[in-house]
Amino acid sequence: MTRGRPEILFPLFAELTTLDKVGEKTAKLFEKLHVTRPRDLLMHPPSRLVDRRMRPDLNGVPDGEVATVKVTVAEHRRGRTRAAPHRVVVEDAAQGFTLVFFRLPPARVEAMLPLGETRIVSGKVETWNHMRQMVQPDHVLTEAEAGELPEFEPIYPTTEGLGQRTISAAALSALSRAPDLPEWIEPGLVSAKLWPGWRNAMEALHRPVSDDALRPRSPARERIAYDELLAHQMALALARETQRKGKGRPTVGTGRLVARALAALPFEPTGAQRRAIREIAADMAAEERMNRLLQGDVGSGKTLVALAALLSAVEAGGQAALMAPTEILARQHMEGLGPLFAAAGVVPVLLTGRDKGPGRREKLAAIASGEAGVVMGTHALFSADVDFADLRLAVIDEQHRFGVRQRMEISQKGRRPDVLVMTATPIPRSLALASYGDMDVSILDEKPPGRKPVETVLVSSGRLEEVVAHLRRAVEAGRQAYWVCPMVEESFESDLTAAEARHRELQAVFGDRVTLVHGQMPPSEKDAAMAAFTGGEARVLVATTVIEVGVNVPDASIMVIEHADRFGLAQLHQLRGRVGRGEAASSCLLMYDPPLGETAQARLKILRETEDGFRIAEEDLRLRGAGDVLGTRQSGLPDFRVADLEMHADLMAVAQDDARLLLTTDPTLEGERGRAMRTLLWLMEADEALRLLKVG
Ligand code: ADP
Ligand code: MG
Repeated sequence: MTRGRPEILFPLFAELTTLDKVGEKTAKLFEKLHVTRPRDLLMHPPSRLVDRRMRPDLNGVPDGEVATVKVTVAEHRRGRTRAAPHRVVVEDAAQGFTLVFFRLPPARVEAMLPLGETRIVSGKVETWNHMRQMVQPDHVLTEAEAGELPEFEPIYPTTEGLGQRTISAAALSALSRAPDLPEWIEPGLVSAKLWPGWRNAMEALHRPVSDDALRPRSPARERIAYDELLAHQMALALARETQRKGKGRPTVGTGRLVARALAALPFEPTGAQRRAIREIAADMAAEERMNRLLQGDVGSGKTLVALAALLSAVEAGGQAALMAPTEILARQHMEGLGPLFAAAGVVPVLLTGRDKGPGRREKLAAIASGEAGVVMGTHALFSADVDFADLRLAVIDEQHRFGVRQRMEISQKGRRPDVLVMTATPIPRSLALASYGDMDVSILDEKPPGRKPVETVLVSSGRLEEVVAHLRRAVEAGRQAYWVCPMVEESFESDLTAAEARHRELQAVFGDRVTLVHGQMPPSEKDAAMAAFTGGEARVLVATTVIEVGVNVPDASIMVIEHADRFGLAQLHQLRGRVGRGEAASSCLLMYDPPLGETAQARLKILRETEDGFRIAEEDLRLRGAGDVLGTRQSGLPDFRVADLEMHADLMAVAQDDARLLLTTDPTLEGERGRAMRTLLWLMEADEALRLLKVG
């Protein structure tokens, strides 16, 4: 989308080849760095600075450091053989040193450093044979040329074939086109933080005048990071406003059906569940549309909260839908919630991609007539031919499998229902704000009583036989177990083979008491395998990560995870959360291929230490960085270029407040700051959000 982009930004969105030193070939290389326009280049900050400030001599420069000195050329010593280096003795303000050149024609070296003349040389210093020397200096310049050598030379992250000089020339060229842009940040914040304006910040980034420019919290970097966060939060705030403005209808339940379902439960809801149910009911009853996130660690009992919300919509005379990310989960919800719906006198309909032909038509008719009060299913629920008579509420389970965009699509469905999304991904606050900044949040911070801790152990893959023997004893003692083989994204083929091979091997021990489930299986086989495990005929379930989210088989008490080091921590936590749900003491065996790297060790150790999903998430963030924790693509989290969700965590909350506040004072973004904000959204390519201003 480029229509509507402010003219002032045109130079920053021109072809990269319009920059100095950038031809087609170089542009191709830049693409590998995700740099396709001058703007991207400005947002591609140096990762290192080399101090090239002049000094009189090498005194005090430790070996391995870069020095820049003015020297007089005293003597050339050509190498005796072609392989031997060419040495140049030079004098500085103290006693002098030697420049060493390999593989350069002697005539070239002599032309570059004429006897008796002065040159500025810059490069890494070392000591050889008690003599100080500079091997292959980075720069040999005349005094006139030296004026162009920056005191702090930026070194950029690069890719093979793309030299530093090309990048910095291109960056400076982009900088020279950078316009002065109006300020979009709240003026009080700018002055409190001593932040430079946008252009000056870019200048400081690419023409650094001190080491400070590299610190993530230096004013310039901080400001640019904030720009990114602000654009993101502004987009979320616009989405949120649009949702709220979309006339919601108050959905006021009578409480009758919910009470009947709760009475059929074998347990009492936890305090946290009651609170979440109340918060959601209040949201649904309000004029505005609900856009709420229910966050709760695995096993915290989110399904029950969803049930109450679904039933209130029916009580109010409307329809409700529950969407799960996988077929298995959708079916499980249907089965698990079935008796409770029955107690309330509601007959839910299950709709998935598997429904075809007359069966599907029948279901669609029930949905369209309103006869189906509650509809459960996969994303097939929201395909174009599904028409609800009166959809009041959409609940989306395991939201982290869906992105922000999908969420927005769903909320535009039909008469724009209230939306409740549920996630078990316990994410640190900064990430929560990044991914869910447009939503209100309910948290289940209390687990149902009686949960026993899961004993977690690390086992090297060399001890496979012991593990199998242990499992056999456990199965003979009546226990059930999951056995997970990792999903390798690039090659699910080999991953599949791994699961299939393991299944065959375990069959030799367990016969038909072991079963297999994976994503590529025909649906009917998948159901059969899950049913056999849930029903207890199968005692061991070999699986790829399809069981990662939501599966609930309370009798299973052992979790074996092969190649645990290949999983993300949050994922391992989710997998482990499949056990420890019943009466029996549970265990989780994390198998790994030795040797285990330091980070991998540290990560697995955290799992042994705690079952607190939030702590695990914080540690994971610390060890791996934000994108990996959620899986950037899945989370809908943008790829920030300068902002770092860990380093700039506090700024995310500030950006959220700032964005929401601006929208209350200038809802159409037409005031002076509002217009500047539009420019920011264009600059950060969050301009899609601007369209919401119109649809809203
Ligand atoms: P999740 O939040 O991971 O989706 P579930 O909703 O699947 O968790 O609940 C996990 C298990 O805890 C289920 O077996 C459910 O029946 C049980 N459960 C839920 N709420 C309670 C409660 N208040 N007391 C006891 N058990 C509960
Ligand atoms: Mg769940």
